[in-house]
Amino acid sequence: MPNIVIMGPQGSGKGTQGEFLAKKLKIPKISTGDIYRDHIRRKTKLGVLTASIINKGYLMPNHITNAIMTKELQKSTMKRGFIVDGYPRNIVQAKALEAVGMPNFVILLTSTTPTIIKRISARRVCEDCKTIYHLKNLPPKKSGICDKCGGKLVQREDDMPQAIHKRLSIYKVQTKPLIARYKKMGILESFDGEKPIPVVQKEIMKELKWRKVL
Ligand code: AMP
Repeated sequence: MPNIVIMGPQGSGKGTQGEFLAKKLKIPKISTGDIYRDHIRRKTKLGVLTASIINKGYLMPNHITNAIMTKELQKSTMKRGFIVDGYPRNIVQAKALEAVGMPNFVILLTSTTPTIIKRISARRVCEDCKTIYHLKNLPPKKSGICDKCGGKLVQREDDMPQAIHKRLSIYKVQTKPLIARYKKMGILESFDGEKPIPVVQKEIMKELKWRKVL
C-alpha cells in the first residue's frame, strides 16, 4: 500500500507530480496548502486566520495542521494508501503523520532557486476553478482569462517574489531535519524537478516498482 510523501520547494513540480501519481495509483492526494486555501476562499473562521498567516509566507501552527491532517488521514478513503503534499513540513508534523499512517516512500523533488523564482512568479491561477497556468510555458488562450471556465486569472499573493523568498528560506530550514529523518529510514528518493515532467514521472514510477511499494 503506497503511503507517499511528496516533498520539494514550491515550483519544483510537486503539485503536478502529485496529481499524476494520485490518478495513476488511484489513491487520494491531500495537500495542506489546498485545504488552507479552500478555507480562505470559503471565508471560514479558520480561513480568516489562515489568510493573515499564509499570505505573508509563514507556516500555520503545527497543532492546527496536524489536527486537520489526522482527521483527513483517518477517513476510509485512505485505506488503500495516500499521497500527502505540503505535509509534513517539520519533525513535529512528521511524527503526527507516522502515528496515523506510516509513510513508505518519500519523493524529494529538487530545483534551484533561480528556476523556482522564474516558475512561480509566472504562475497564474483561475479565481474560480483554480486551474493553474504559466505565462510562458502554459499560457491561457486569451490573456488573463481561464480557458476552462472564463474566470479571471490572478497571481496568488504568496506567489509574489517577496513571499517566495520567505517561503524558500523557511522550506530549507524546516525540511532539512525531515530529509535526514527519511534518508535514515531508507525511504527517501531524490528526483531532479528541473527535468521535463514526463521524464520525472517515469523515474518515480520505476522507483516505486523497484521498491515494491505498489
Ligand atoms: P503550499 O501550497 O504547500 O505552498 O502551502 C501554502 C501555504 O499554506 C504555506 O506557505 C503555509 O503557510 C500553509 N501550509 C501548507 N502546508 C502547511 C504545513 N504542513 N504546515 C504549516 N503550514 C502549511
